[in-house]
Amino acid sequence: MAERHIVIIGGGISGLATAFYIKQHLARINSTAKITVLESESVIGGKIQSYQENGYLCEWGPNGFLTNKPDTLELCQYLGLTEQLLSSNDNARKRFVVSNGELNKLPHNQIEFLMNSLISWRGKLRIAAEIFQSQRISEIDESLADFTRRRLGQEALDKLIAPMASGIFAGDPETMSLRACFPRIYQLEQQYGGLLKAMLVLMKQHRKEKKNGQVSASPAGPGGVLTSFATGIATLTKQLASVIGEENILLDHKVIAIQHNDNVWTVQNQNGQTIIADQIVLATPAYVAKDIIQPSLPSVSELLNQINYSPLAVVCLGYNLKHVRRDVNGFGYLFATGENHHVLGTLWDSSIFASRAPDNMVLFRSMLGGAKYPDILNYTDKELESITCQQLHKIMMIDNSPAMVKIFRHKYAIPQYRVGHCELVKQIENSISEHSGLYLNNNAYYGVGINDCIAAAKKVALKVVNDYII
Ligand SMILES: Cc1cc2nc3c(=O)[nH]c(=O)nc-3n(C[C@H](O)[C@H](O)[C@H](O)COP(=O)(O)OP(=O)(O)OC[C@H]3O[C@@H](n4cnc5c(N)ncnc54)[C@H](O)[C@@H]3O)c2cc1C
Repeated sequence: MAERHIVIIGGGISGLATAFYIKQHLARINSTAKITVLESESVIGGKIQSYQENGYLCEWGPNGFLTNKPDTLELCQYLGLTEQLLSSNDNARKRFVVSNGELNKLPHNQIEFLMNSLISWRGKLRIAAEIFQSQRISEIDESLADFTRRRLGQEALDKLIAPMASGIFAGDPETMSLRACFPRIYQLEQQYGGLLKAMLVLMKQHRKEKKNGQVSASPAGPGGVLTSFATGIATLTKQLASVIGEENILLDHKVIAIQHNDNVWTVQNQNGQTIIADQIVLATPAYVAKDIIQPSLPSVSELLNQINYSPLAVVCLGYNLKHVRRDVNGFGYLFATGENHHVLGTLWDSSIFASRAPDNMVLFRSMLGGAKYPDILNYTDKELESITCQQLHKIMMIDNSPAMVKIFRHKYAIPQYRVGHCELVKQIENSISEHSGLYLNNNAYYGVGINDCIAAAKKVALKVVNDYII
C-alpha cells in the first residue's frame, strides 16, 4: 500500500504549527505517513519575519505573543525554546493613547482611572453607569462600536475601544464583529450581565485564589506579558521548520489549484507540476484559498471571498536617544478617533524588548493604513517616511531626522472579521466538511493572534489524524 501523504499549503505559523502537531500525533501512532509543507515564498514564516541590520532588529509583522493564553508557550516547550523566551520589559506595561495631540497613559486601576485626563468626567460617569445597563442576551452578532456605545458610551468608544481595534486588527469598530474579534467581552455580558459586574466577580475570585496560594491570570481583560526571543519572533517559525524537517518543506512552490478525484487530491503549482495528497490543509490566507479551490469548490470560494483584508505599512525608524526629548519608557501609543491621519499608532520597540537597537539609539515602529485608510500603499516610501516623522516628531519631541528607516508593506495585512463572521466561518466549515480530506487553517477564521493560530492548528491537526485513522 502506498505511503499516505498529508500536504499543508502555506508555511506561515498556522501551516507550520499544523504540520508540527500532525507530525507529533503520527509519531505517537508509529505512522509512516509523509508530511509536506508547500510555501509560495522563498522563506517560511508568512507574516512572521525578523530582520537584523546594523544593530537594529525590525519585525515585519508581529513582535511577540501574549502569555495570557497557553498555546504558544506550550509549543515553545515542545520545540525546546523555553530557555530562549524573552519577556517584554516591565516598563512596557505603560501604554498611551494620543488624544488632542497629547499622550495620555492608560489607567491600570480605579484610582488611575479617576485621575486620568484622557476621559472627561462625563465620559467616566457614563462608563461607571455600565453597571446599571440591562443585559442583552442574544446570539445575534453586533458591531464592536454598537456594543461599546450601548454599554460604555461614545467617549469610551472613541478613546479606548477604537484605538484598541486599530492596534490589534487595523480595523474599523463600526464593521467589526464583537463576537469574532473579542469573544471574551461578548461572553462577559452573556455570563455576568455586564462588564463591570464581571470585573467585580472576577476580582473577588482572583483575590480568593491568591489567598489560597493559587496562581491565576489577570482578573479581567487581555492581560499576559508580551513575549518574544532575543533574535526576534521568527525564531519560532525557524525552529518549527527545523523540527518539521527542511526536506519536508518546499519553498517557491506556489499552489494555484487543487482537484479531488478518486479519493485523492491533486495539487498543482505555478509551473504545472502536480503532487498527489490524501489529505490537504489549506493554510493560506482566505483571499488565496478562494482562488485555489475555485475550480473544484466554487460555492466555498464565493464564501471565502467575503473575508476582506486591510492593508498596512510598517515604518521602522531609528533615532539617537539624545534627540528624543520625551520619556521613551513604555509600550507605545495608539490614536483616539478623530486625530485623523494615516498613522494608527507607534510601538516603542527598543523599550519593549532588550537589544532591538544599538546602544544609545531607539527604535520606533509605526503602523499606517488599516481599514480606515485603505489607500496607504499608494504612497511612496519617501511619503510614508514623511507622514510618520511628522506625527512622531511632534508627539515624541524629536528634533532630528531618523538615523535608520526601514519600511514594510502588507497589501493584505490583517483579515477583517466583520459582523456575521462566525456565521460565515460556520458555513465555510460545513461546506468544506462535505469534501473528505480537505481542511482549513489560517488567521482568517478563528483569531488573528499567534496564540489563536496555534490553538486552531492543534485542533485541525487532531482532526486530520483522527480522519486518517478511520
Ligand atoms: C503588522 C502586523 C503586526 C502583527 N502583530 C501581532 C502581534 O504583535 N502579536 C500577534 O499575536 N499577532 C500579530 N499579528 C498577526 C499575526 O502575525 C498573524 O495573524 C499570523 O502570523 C498569521 O499567520 P498565518 O499562518 O495564519 O498566515 P500567514 O502568515 O499569512 O501565512 C500564510 C502563508 O501562506 C503562503 N502562501 C500564500 N499563497 C500561497 C500559495 N498560493 N501557495 C503556497 N503558499 C502560499 C504565504 O506566503 C504565507 O507564508 C500581526 C500581523 C501584522 C500584519
